[in-house]
Amino acid sequence: MPPEKNYLRRRRNSLLPLLALMAGGCADPPADLVLVNGTVYTFGSDDGSPVVEALAIRDGAVVAAGDSAAIRRLADAGTRMLDLEGATAIPGLSDAHAHLFNLGRSLSWADLRGTRSAAEAVERTAALAAELPDGSWLRGRGWDQNDWDPPAYPDRRLLDAAFGDRPVYLERIDGHAGWASSAALAAAGIDADTPDPEGGEILRDPQTGEPTGILIDAAENLVRAVIPKPTATDLDRQLAAAAAKAVSHGLVGVHEMGVTLEELAALQRADAGGTLPLRVVAYLGGAPALENYQGSPVRPDAESLLRLEGVKYYADGALGSRGAALKADYSDRPGHRGLLIQSHAELTLRVKAAVDRGFSVAVHAIGDEGNHVALDAIQQGHGAALADHGEVPAITEARHRIEHVQVVDPAEFGRFAELGVIPSMQPTHCTSDMPWAPDRLGPERVKGAYAWREFLDRNLILPLGSDFPVEQVSPLFGLYAAVTRQTPDGQPPGGWSPEHRLTRAEAVLGFTAWAGEAAGVPQWGRLRSGDRADVTVFDGDPMTVAPAELLELDVRTVIVDGRITFP
Ligand SMILES: [Zn+2]
Repeated sequence: MPPEKNYLRRRRNSLLPLLALMAGGCADPPADLVLVNGTVYTFGSDDGSPVVEALAIRDGAVVAAGDSAAIRRLADAGTRMLDLEGATAIPGLSDAHAHLFNLGRSLSWADLRGTRSAAEAVERTAALAAELPDGSWLRGRGWDQNDWDPPAYPDRRLLDAAFGDRPVYLERIDGHAGWASSAALAAAGIDADTPDPEGGEILRDPQTGEPTGILIDAAENLVRAVIPKPTATDLDRQLAAAAAKAVSHGLVGVHEMGVTLEELAALQRADAGGTLPLRVVAYLGGAPALENYQGSPVRPDAESLLRLEGVKYYADGALGSRGAALKADYSDRPGHRGLLIQSHAELTLRVKAAVDRGFSVAVHAIGDEGNHVALDAIQQGHGAALADHGEVPAITEARHRIEHVQVVDPAEFGRFAELGVIPSMQPTHCTSDMPWAPDRLGPERVKGAYAWREFLDRNLILPLGSDFPVEQVSPLFGLYAAVTRQTPDGQPPGGWSPEHRLTRAEAVLGFTAWAGEAAGVPQWGRLRSGDRADVTVFDGDPMTVAPAELLELDVRTVIVDGRITFP
């Protein structure tokens, strides 16, 4: 693998190409859309400048930036005029690591967190039932009988009374118990004669011996096994709901980290049907998806909304559950170092299998051992593919990345730059984990955790994301966490390991141009002449408001490839 790759280097301050804004005599066709009377950060340079009042867009691309009077002259009667009324436009925000389909699934489940009674849980489920196709399974999650009055497990008959023959399955907040309707129990073949499975329990009425509808641990699998897999129509609906939510929070794009072939097909249908409201850079979900996928990566021109860029693999688990693989013992659990999802050799073979077919890889790695193995696997797997095929563009242009990159051995930061591996990080993971990460890692090792500045100092790009629905969908939480390293209520004062805070412009670059470069499309994420016209408009200025006010900003307008997709 070549020691240096241009796409990984941060773009040098490049002057916005001088725009020919000569009044009159201009032979160019009129703009399709112009934005006037605002503050527009074009990010021709990495500090956000030039900052202008107005923008002209034609055929999905930026054609001019300048003052309002000059830009108005590029319009004619057929041009759509958007008066920003003092609002602020920045390059459209992209989430470089997220899960639209998981979000869509969660939106099709009743959210039962915070319910005060079983009746309230039924009420919320009923509200959802009206939006789903008749007779389909109703699912929900988040109830906790300890919060209810009385604090007792509910009964299937409450669900039967509300939903009749419709199967209902509502999971407890921790997922270790479920509440099934009689129809759901019947579908799973559970009755008074069904024995408790090993590792699980079917709660029963002490008088009759009939199941109450509450299933504990392994008994849950009896019902889960019979819940139908989502149909193509379900996936289409879940994608549409998730994409609409993402766009409403100001996103113009998402790097979708791990899709099944059925989910990829749903993305392709939405793209072909013109219903995809944002850009999606998709990564296949692991070896099974790659093996079953017949084709090559799909990297169309910059105006296309859908790309198939790579394959998502896992090196290790997560830090919170002590599944992240560490080089030395967990500081709060001696003798335990987490675990690798697959061996070093296996991961290397999987990387090679992807690169052989022209795919980039995105490897989930959280612990320092996980990151070490991911770096090795990318180096060796890519090297082996290169040795087999030679320096063909499909291989030399691969953009390998590591996802999360949370804990890195300080001796290995330099390998990212040497190997050309992109660190893809999520600022809100840092601020969610910082209360307990020092316990897991100890005072020395924690210095290499969430160490954004280590990468920026090595002139690497740092694409940023949220990992939604694990974290909030709104990129404002990520921008806020990136510049403060504080929780939304401002803790700790001054920020956690504040030396790693990003500047406002760096945080925006992480969600714009660096996300674009990580996807291999330098025309995404800046508003220079010729760039794709992806724009997020806020009622306030995300480059200058006080950090706490970032979370209060409202999304006014979202433009994707020159088309207004929100509101
Ligand atoms: Zn993820």
